[in-house]
Parts: sequence; structure tokens; C-alpha cells
Amino acid sequence: MFGGRRKQRDDLFDRSFRECVDCGADVYVLAEDCKDCGTALELRAS
Ligand SMILES: [Zn+2]
Repeated sequence: MFGGRRKQRDDLFDRSFRECVDCGADVYVLAEDCKDCGTALELRAS
């Protein structure tokens, strides 16, 4: 769970994007790799 509760709009945004483990860029959850640095990211079921 996350530390704090944000606005609903930000919640939806956070569900659609995740942070690249390598460069920290916002990567769409359904993308297989980071568009910024090209690091392959694991797809999450949820
Ligand atoms: Zn990256």
C-alpha cells in the first residue's frame, strides 16, 4: 500500500503508469519496456 491517500485523479494516473526501475520515468503499465531508457519491465497482473 502507498503511504498517503491522494486525489482520485492521481490515483487513476498512478494505476495507469508505473515508475521505471532504472531511470524513474513514468511508463505505461501495459508497455513492455521504458520508452526513455529501454529497460524491459515486468508486466503486473494488477
Ligand atoms: Zn527507464
